[in-house]
Amino acid sequence: MLAHNDHVAVAVSGGKDSLTLLNLLVKLERKFPRSQLTAICVDEGIEGYRDEALLLAAKECERLGVRQLIVSYKELFGTTTDEIVKLSLGKTPCAYCGVLRRKAINKAAIMVGATKIATAHNLDDEVQTVLLNMLHGDPMRIIRSSPVLRDVQGRFLTRIKPLCDILEKEVVLYAYLTGLEFQSIACPHGNEAVRNDIRAFLNQMDQRHPGTKFTLQRTAERLRELLADAAPAVDLNECAKCGDPTPQRYCEACLMLETIIA
Ligand code: SF4
Ligand code: ZN
Repeated sequence: MLAHNDHVAVAVSGGKDSLTLLNLLVKLERKFPRSQLTAICVDEGIEGYRDEALLLAAKECERLGVRQLIVSYKELFGTTTDEIVKLSLGKTPCAYCGVLRRKAINKAAIMVGATKIATAHNLDDEVQTVLLNMLHGDPMRIIRSSPVLRDVQGRFLTRIKPLCDILEKEVVLYAYLTGLEFQSIACPHGNEAVRNDIRAFLNQMDQRHPGTKFTLQRTAERLRELLADAAPAVDLNECAKCGDPTPQRYCEACLMLETIIA
């Protein structure tokens, strides 16, 4: 995932996963003098929730001596997640917020001159997403949710998920044992019904049949290899609006913003 001279933009939300990732990457970075780290924090504009997380993230960055860049949806896109929710556009808040977050992190990573983007998805997140994509009838998305997503032609920054093989409960344990101060309240808009059902199902399966989550992760890896061979090569154009790489004329975020701002 990492090279000795990488400048890694770490997406830090202030939750247990991202603060754990930040701490682990700082330990690694200290062993490699030519590597760099920058914490990227995104303010989605969620009142009563994001402010606390940003504060905790800032405190941890200061303690670790990590450079931090905060970007907000308001300044980048002219709107906030709270404002989008009020429009009741039909999809779940996360469907909009997730796309904008990816774009915001990407923009911020380019701003700081990073070579890679690291996000703190853990094993539980990963296998939930695999099942979610299957239930949505979109197996090709399993390729795009790979723990290492790189474009050989370099049109987008490589995205890595260093915690992809770590169970969520182990991340929690690490965070508690090392005394990390993280945000524990959940996002008020983050109620993805299908994902919640999948989470409950996988937890029950893993409890009754230990190793289920790891097996599913290995199955997904195998599927990615098979699907990558079968998948036609996708031509990426520059989005006619923002210039980001996209298989369509406009990228997903620009299309979304058009409905939101209209
Ligand atoms: Fe955005 Fe959903 Fe995450 Fe809340 S839970 S910050 S709405 S993606
Ligand atoms: Zn665009």
